[in-house]
Amino acid sequence: MDDCIFCKIVSKEIPSDLIYENKGAMAFLDVSPLSEGHTLVIPKKHFERSHEMDIETWKDISDALDVVSKLLVGKMGVRNYNILQNNGRDAGQEVMHVHFHIIPKTKTEGLEIKWNSKKKDTKSTAKLLTE
Ligand code: 5GP
Ligand code: ZN
Repeated sequence: MDDCIFCKIVSKEIPSDLIYENKGAMAFLDVSPLSEGHTLVIPKKHFERSHEMDIETWKDISDALDVVSKLLVGKMGVRNYNILQNNGRDAGQEVMHVHFHIIPKTKTEGLEIKWNSKKKDTKSTAKLLTE
């Protein structure tokens, strides 16, 4: 994708603080971190949303998430963290190339979550999804 900022990071047209890479995924520091160590894990190939990714890409993403989480825990002493991935603008996706955030959480920094849970009929949803 010509105008995709993360494709340009993959091709090294735009520099990044690379933390880890494997065949299909790479991990680099977020340029505007919510906390120290805030890392983005992306597929090297351009996919807009996570359900578009093939299983091999998912495996490389999983490996990268595993390695980077352990680096943050082992080398930075991170104890609490969130893994977040947004699909679509209404869900908060600003860069339209799949990316997973790994965001260390401290008392003062990190992801703030507002969880607006509702009472819903889950049985009919389960029926819809499984029949
Ligand atoms: P989203 O809101 O799409 O889930 O997150 C996009 C993230 O990409 C943001 O946290 C933003 O700071 C980060 N980002 C945007 N442009 C760049 C860039 O050029 N380099 C890096 N390292 N991060 C970027
Ligand atoms: Zn892209």
